[in-house]
Amino acid sequence: MCGIVAYVGHREAYPVILKGLKRLEYRGYDSAGIALNDSKLSVYKKQGKVARLEESLVGVELKATIGIGHTRWATHGEPSDRNAHPHLSASGRLAMIHNGIIENYASLKLELEKKGYAFKSDTDTEVLLNFIDDILIRNQCSLEEAVRIALKRVVGAYVIVLMDEEDPSTLIAARKGSPLVIGVGENEHFLASDASPIIEYTKQVVYVNDYELAIIKGNELILKNLGNEIVTPFVQQLDLELAAIEKGGYDHFMLKEIFEQPKTIFDCLRGRLDIANQDIIMSGVQHYMEELKTANRIIIIACGTSWHAGLVAEYIIEELCRIPVEVEYASEFRYRNPIVNKGDVLFAISQSGETADTLVAIERAKEQGAIIFGILNVVGSSIARISHAGAYTHAGPEIGVASTKAFTAQLVVLAMIALKIAKEKKSISNARFMHLMHELNAVPEKVKEILASTEKIKAVASKHAAASSFLFLGRGYNFPIALEGALKLKEISYIHAEGYPAAEMKHGPIALVDENLPVLFVATKDAYHEKVVSNMQEINARKGKLIAVVTAGDHSVLSLTGDLIEVPEADEVIAPILNVVPLQLLSYYIGVERGLDVDRPRNLAKSVTVE
Ligand code: GLU
Repeated sequence: MCGIVAYVGHREAYPVILKGLKRLEYRGYDSAGIALNDSKLSVYKKQGKVARLEESLVGVELKATIGIGHTRWATHGEPSDRNAHPHLSASGRLAMIHNGIIENYASLKLELEKKGYAFKSDTDTEVLLNFIDDILIRNQCSLEEAVRIALKRVVGAYVIVLMDEEDPSTLIAARKGSPLVIGVGENEHFLASDASPIIEYTKQVVYVNDYELAIIKGNELILKNLGNEIVTPFVQQLDLELAAIEKGGYDHFMLKEIFEQPKTIFDCLRGRLDIANQDIIMSGVQHYMEELKTANRIIIIACGTSWHAGLVAEYIIEELCRIPVEVEYASEFRYRNPIVNKGDVLFAISQSGETADTLVAIERAKEQGAIIFGILNVVGSSIARISHAGAYTHAGPEIGVASTKAFTAQLVVLAMIALKIAKEKKSISNARFMHLMHELNAVPEKVKEILASTEKIKAVASKHAAASSFLFLGRGYNFPIALEGALKLKEISYIHAEGYPAAEMKHGPIALVDENLPVLFVATKDAYHEKVVSNMQEINARKGKLIAVVTAGDHSVLSLTGDLIEVPEADEVIAPILNVVPLQLLSYYIGVERGLDVDRPRNLAKSVTVE
């Protein structure tokens, strides 16, 4: 995790870096720090959010035109001033920021301690920094050379950026397994974990690849591999507008992103849902249609909310395409010894396209002959680059740490992929295909209708905001939505919440039910509706506080609860895309009511680039 920003050029570095860190704060906010190089290294760092660092620097003269900044998500060492980045090397000559984990830091540390090094922090970062420092001083070589030698010994994931007091016009950066973008301006360069700190200065960017090293001055960028060979930088035009990463009048990014969903879903469908020609246009899918149609199995790997999208896709693909689907947590898949055969297709779902566990899981499956299909939001991300093909979700930058619009866009993309395969495979009738096409087309308008009932959802949220525990239940297509509702609530409100298949609750969770427990049912009209209503009766008999998401006009459970949230009628295959929206709003308003920072929930970070 963590966000890194660096600047070298003709501007004052501090404001550029500070603004960049604020944009990257969604990646981690345990501490923030900046180092500047005015032929003398100055380091300023503070535990907590970027605003605290900013406050502490009011009135301080910061004129340097080169600097590095970091917002941390702690892996090694508690969140504290001492463990905050940037770190200074023992010689005082180098300053460094780091995103990732140095897995063999303990043995490197031991080696350095034997040489007399003492450490000021508990981080793996300081170990790598002093390892570089040691090579630099002992070998009397260039910093570039020292970094190259050091990285050959490193096991783990990193983006590092270094400054050398003795060379105050140069930044050295390297990456393996964590993201790094370089913005190329007029006699200036910007480095960051994603493009958001860069776009207002330049749209020309270079995505650094694994095992590459960048030597950057204001007017010069040299890329090399670890074998010291020059690599020609591939400069791309950034397709991102500033407005997309600003709050635009909303109190929080999360609320803005929930309200953007009619548009993001429309953008996701645009150019793909071709109703006139009764087709779905997705070039990546088309290109691998033969493999998809004849796949022995589709394995879906993902983490967190994306994993819930994968579970919905399991229901849809098995139903429409009659292909067996397995959904796996990437972190489990990568460490067991999974059976992957030629003829298996692996779908990797990730908002950021940088999820560390998913990246490694893909590599494992690729080695075993699977076709890799990425369902991703961030264009050009690491997973996009190692997949055979894929489909972007086009939801735009998602800044709120709790995923909302990226999830619904994932569901839309997965539904379209399933429909396209089903059509080509003829596993559904044309009438069913066209019905579902129309259903998908209607989703943006239906989401608008749900958003129009925000006040009602806010009232339900306010009623239950003091709860200490919550149960979310659903069956069939709505079971993963119950899981997602529970996850959202946990993330945003810190209320303990569990999602369960409604029928399964009798096998345990029902013991939790008493007059204090809110139990939310996703109970829209589908094949299981009557069974779900029976499950509601069971909760009612035990005095649980029922809340129900129901199909508009369905008042059959009104005798059980007044807390009804209505959503427009939809085919059960499409309904999850709608049904999650009120759950997003519910957790948002509960979080706000409890006075929490919903865009930056404690302990979380948005893209999980450490395993
Ligand atoms: N492992 C480093 C630390 O704990 C960097 C973590 C990060 O990526 O923020 O400080």
